[in-house]
Amino acid sequence: MSTEYDNFVGGEWLPSDDGETFTVRNPAATDEIVSRYQRSTEEDVDAAVAAAAAAQPDWAAMPGPERGAILRRTGELLAERKQSLVTTLTTEEGKTTAEATPEVQRAIDIFHYYAEKARDFDGTVKAASGRDKTLHTRKEPMGVAALVTPWNYPIAIPAWKLAPALATGNAVVIKPASEAPSLVRAIVDCLDEAGLPAGVVNFLTGSGSEIGGPLVSHDDVDVVSFTGSTRVGTTVYEQSVADGKRAQCEMGGKNPAVVLPSADIDEAVEVVGAGAFGVTGQACTATSRAIVHEEVYEEFVAGIVDHAQEITVGDGLDGADMGPQVSESELDGTLQYINIAQDEGARLAAGGSRLDEGDHADGHYVEPTVFADVETGMRIAQEEVFGPVLAVIPVSDFDEAVSVANDSEYGLSASVLTDSLSEAERFSRQIETGVVKVNEKTTGLELHVPFGGVKQSSTNTYREQGDAGLEFFTTTKTIYTN
Ligand code: NAP
Repeated sequence: MSTEYDNFVGGEWLPSDDGETFTVRNPAATDEIVSRYQRSTEEDVDAAVAAAAAAQPDWAAMPGPERGAILRRTGELLAERKQSLVTTLTTEEGKTTAEATPEVQRAIDIFHYYAEKARDFDGTVKAASGRDKTLHTRKEPMGVAALVTPWNYPIAIPAWKLAPALATGNAVVIKPASEAPSLVRAIVDCLDEAGLPAGVVNFLTGSGSEIGGPLVSHDDVDVVSFTGSTRVGTTVYEQSVADGKRAQCEMGGKNPAVVLPSADIDEAVEVVGAGAFGVTGQACTATSRAIVHEEVYEEFVAGIVDHAQEITVGDGLDGADMGPQVSESELDGTLQYINIAQDEGARLAAGGSRLDEGDHADGHYVEPTVFADVETGMRIAQEEVFGPVLAVIPVSDFDEAVSVANDSEYGLSASVLTDSLSEAERFSRQIETGVVKVNEKTTGLELHVPFGGVKQSSTNTYREQGDAGLEFFTTTKTIYTN
């Protein structure tokens, strides 16, 4: 039995303009339909943006602490529903329960964090050049925000866009990914129950290629925040900024972990393995290249092969270490890259096959896969796979390691495994990424520090999270008083 869900526009749950729906399936059991959602149209986009535009001025006029109280209550409601949200996340997107639990907790924490920010994020008072004068700045909302989010962190990413946008007095239209819309619906439900005024948040489902363009280029949208692939993000950015909107697009990655001889190799294997195969490799920050010094190369490859082979693959609700890929097309993409890597001459050291028998018969499963002896020019070392596939590249010294790590069109996250503080420092300065980790996996973020990439990983206009998230959704007014 699957439930059909509506859009949320102007404070009401409503079907789409033309009544069409689409289905969301469980990636661990593909004949199981989890839910049905509205296939929205351009008319629905117009209605949602109009509702947001109408509601925004009153919301902006509400004192920050009152807005914060609604966000805090939303966090509390999410916390009350945490267990069912974890189950929904696993059945819709495929993360294991162990992975889904901290993601849901992260969303709760984000609402509490920005609830406090709504109390104290504002302008500053400055000394004026005159005895009877005052000078201060005020942070004002941008207006109507269009938020477009991906399926791979279906509650954390929407939360880190929604909470700062709302905390600062913007009204929102959010379109979640079609693979996993239920967690955004749950947040919207909690916002509504927490007392958010009608029209301040609007939720539309449907095909990104049909309604994404009309939404991000809508005349009455002021600010656009997108997370997803570089292919789509590049178009979204062009569409948004063409008529003067502020936009941020956070996109793909090809994240390197550099393993140097002074590293503890057992620890390096654990760190790289967690970054590569955690969340089935479906993280923008997933470790997809291990760049390993030749002195420790054989030891590292043997270790990471053992690590990959010990991972149990299965339904995330049943205690497996690694869940399925989200969809047949994502699984196909991974299998294609496995073939490409072999054709290019990389050595398949672990995994490499689809799992489709017995308990795996109904899901989108693939083995954790390691390619050794990869060269930096190969496609497997350059293109985002977005599955549990690690390319291991040998290098002969530190400088070559950095040069190979930077030999990428992407620049999101990177890590270095070393016992040397000076190598860590040099690496953090020379690597061309937005995030650098020392002796930590490339995945995993703190919510109160800026996040974003460089090169093709980001439009690199504004960062997300922390105060950066608030800056993006606000503009600064300077007030001179005599
Ligand atoms: P995607 O295919 O680019 O989709 C992202 C969102 O854009 C979805 O809501 C999608 O809707 C929508 N969309 C599709 N076509 C559109 C269009 N023409 N105009 C406007 N919106 C459109 O990405 P994904 O497969 O969901 O997510 C995986 C990608 O996201 C990976 O490349 C990953 O690296 C990246 N990612 C980046 C970050 C980061 O912070 N840098 C974080 C997470 C993920 P539909 O679902 O309806 O197609």
